Amino acid sequence: MTSFAITLAPYAANPDTSFGRSHQEPESPTRNAFQRDRDRIIHSTAFRRLEYKTQVFVNHEGDLFRTRLTHSLEVAQLARGIARTLNLHEDLTEAIALAHDLGHTPFGHAGQDALNACMKDYGGFEHNLQSLRVVDKLEQRYAEFDGLNCTFELREGILKHCSVKNAKQLGDVGLRFINKTNPSLEAQITNFADEIAYNNHDIDDGLRSGLITIEQLQSVDLFASQLDLVKTKYPKLEQKRLIHETIRRMINVLVVDLCTQTSKNIDQLKPNNINDIREAPYLAGFSTDMATKNLNLKQFLRKNLYQHYKVNRMSAKAERIIRELFTVFFADVGLMPYEFQAAAKADKARAVADYIAGMTDRFAIREHKRLFAVEEYF
Ligand code: MG
Repeated sequence: MTSFAITLAPYAANPDTSFGRSHQEPESPTRNAFQRDRDRIIHSTAFRRLEYKTQVFVNHEGDLFRTRLTHSLEVAQLARGIARTLNLHEDLTEAIALAHDLGHTPFGHAGQDALNACMKDYGGFEHNLQSLRVVDKLEQRYAEFDGLNCTFELREGILKHCSVKNAKQLGDVGLRFINKTNPSLEAQITNFADEIAYNNHDIDDGLRSGLITIEQLQSVDLFASQLDLVKTKYPKLEQKRLIHETIRRMINVLVVDLCTQTSKNIDQLKPNNINDIREAPYLAGFSTDMATKNLNLKQFLRKNLYQHYKVNRMSAKAERIIRELFTVFFADVGLMPYEFQAAAKADKARAVADYIAGMTDRFAIREHKRLFAVEEYF
């Protein structure tokens, strides 16, 4: 596990045996298929918009808080390290990580819940499915196709969950939800990297914002045990460094446990190729002990940060903005830009949802003002 030589495991995703792209294209002379996926994601409009989309704190609340863009970069950093340790395909892992949140609405989960409620009678709204929709359809940059024409493996990796009903409409990437199989290990470890990234950066942001305190975090074993170690070793450390040193050690403990346990699971199964991975039970995972500690951390954050009354206030505002935007656009599609008016001819509700989902936090706030405040002209 500590080897630094990069050899691709036989069960890793491999661009040479990829299921390919929906639209035939000549291969790049300089990049493998997964590198090309990653590059297309970085150049997409949806990726740039992540800079102004909320993770927990709305962008204007402070310059140091995570946004969906910095979150995605942190996920990519963790996922690449894990992929390299496990001899998985680092480029695919990075591409999945950078793309995993492309479909998020403005205002984080509050925005997604509000849009899902608006879409209740029209097929619902799910950010995960929307991320796939962005790379498959909504990005319009290439002469020959809609979307980014990414590989099957990237698309499979983006789609984390999906109802059987929706899966039936997705063709190849939907099949695993019907057949109850799993995605590549690259996708599996990226899910964990996502979780490790947000749990830890939310502690950091939560402490910085003052919504949670070090005293409260004493009830979280993962935090308290690392804090103790740091305090013992460096008794005079100032608060800011103490927090960073504790969090970086927490991340390390989680990543090492994930790599160790996943390696064990792989050794037990002895997969020969990526299809063995897809057919097997989910192989990426923490040890039982770490899974419990991780759950404890998540529960702490849910109770003390995500449901903090100050976060609730912003969420309530966000829900109102999304709901009111949906209502006015749905009642009069002529208020939307022309490209969405055109899309509304085929499916009005979905076109409105696509328009709203693509907005950044501040664009949604501005758009709401433009439509509802009488002193605004356009
Ligand atoms: Mg995420």
